[in-house]
Amino acid sequence: MEQIVEMIQARDPEQREFHQAVDEVIESVKPVLDRNPEYRQQAVLERITEPERVVMFRVPWMADSGQVKVNRGFRVEMNSAIGPYKGGLRFHPSVNLGIIKFLAFEQVFKNSLTTLAMGGGKGGSDFDPKGKSDMEVMRFCQSFMAELYRHIGPNTDVPAGDIGVGAREIGYLFGMYKKLKNEFTGVLTGKSLNWGGSLIRPEATGYGVVYFAAEMLATRGETLANKICLVSGSGNVAQYTTEKILELGGQVVTLSDSSGYIYDEEGIDRDKLKYVMELKNIRRGRISDYAETYPEAVFTPVDPTLDYNPLWNHQADCAFPSATQNEINEKDATNLLANGVYLVSEGANMPSTPEAIDQFIDQQILYGPGKAANAGGVAVSGLEMAQNSMRLTWPREEVDSRLKHIMESIHHTCVEAARSYGAEGNYLIGANIAGFIKVVNAMLDQGLV
Ligand code: NDP
Repeated sequence: MEQIVEMIQARDPEQREFHQAVDEVIESVKPVLDRNPEYRQQAVLERITEPERVVMFRVPWMADSGQVKVNRGFRVEMNSAIGPYKGGLRFHPSVNLGIIKFLAFEQVFKNSLTTLAMGGGKGGSDFDPKGKSDMEVMRFCQSFMAELYRHIGPNTDVPAGDIGVGAREIGYLFGMYKKLKNEFTGVLTGKSLNWGGSLIRPEATGYGVVYFAAEMLATRGETLANKICLVSGSGNVAQYTTEKILELGGQVVTLSDSSGYIYDEEGIDRDKLKYVMELKNIRRGRISDYAETYPEAVFTPVDPTLDYNPLWNHQADCAFPSATQNEINEKDATNLLANGVYLVSEGANMPSTPEAIDQFIDQQILYGPGKAANAGGVAVSGLEMAQNSMRLTWPREEVDSRLKHIMESIHHTCVEAARSYGAEGNYLIGANIAGFIKVVNAMLDQGLV
């Protein structure tokens, strides 16, 4: 197994995030390979860590000034053993092949856990929608889709949103796909309600993260009522995580963006959350505005000289990282634990470094890894695909109750898989093992392809 890890690292030495994601899974599934010698014979690790297909392409577009710009586009089709490739598109300047591969790899296991028929993929671009006009974003999305359309389809590969790709971008991408293919199909999820979207899809990831947290707390006979919660990010996942925490009686005291974070000791109530949604989704403003509108809050700008994030250094019970990968490092984890945090439910993908995770596991806190805790988004995307196929729209209550049921079932699956491999209470091992076994068995059923 060490040889496989070394081979993957030597092949693409710059893909650090991908190596991190692979290391974590390989470490967890060691006992599964020991129990199933045919998995080694069939080289399942080598196969599952190599994408089925990688598409990289040029995306030229014109700025409002008339200047032509060029970005790089990606789609990694990682694994289609249990269904069409499925996973979001990320538009962020940090995007590179290693980041998209790590996200696609995580997606394979996450989608498997939802019990829906979805393989894993991910895509995106190093384009930064921040500060661009709507017309610039539209021209970029159209150019991006002018290449991507030939690789995707409702039964082949179904992208969705992620960082920097929300309802506006999905609209422009869908419009271009429809024009090029002359076809109205469920080729993207996260669509607007009046043209094929599902109720609860915008809310799904955040709500799911909180449902998963509630399930973890229930194992200790507790609920979210009166719990003080730290939330990072202020985008889609952070907003609906906050909404559901409030609904279940908890208190959220932080939110952030890439410029800094706000700490509101009095709590971010429904009215303040409404303000944040308007600020971020419509005005596309900065979270620092919050502290100007609500003087009881303190804004702390990002300090690049610090080796920790002060957001994670406040007294609290629960933490919901909902911004980006590796946002909780070893020192942040130490601070969280010292401040009384005993539940971490990951809204973002891979937000905790391996050193941070080691501390959570050592201290036996309730640690819900992203591939389990944030699977609600893709689960409702799967429900959107089902509704599109049937040309039906399910009511809000029905989608929400299916989402809740799926999150309870993922929690149960993780608990049982961990228990059957002697790692009781370890959701990380449970999620990796359960996700892995289902995909690998499907791959073996389908022969050497
Ligand atoms: P959004 O673009 O809506 O929001 C992202 C938020 O995180 C923004 O507040 C952004 O700040 C902040 N952020 C992004 N990158 C960084 C960075 N490098 N440093 C500091 N802050 C940063 O994205 P989502 O809410 O959709 O996604 C957040 C996380 O959740 C991601 O890890 C994503 O992969 C994961 N996720 C999302 C799902 C979904 O359904 N949307 C499903 C499952 C997981 P700023 O605006 O300043 O950039």
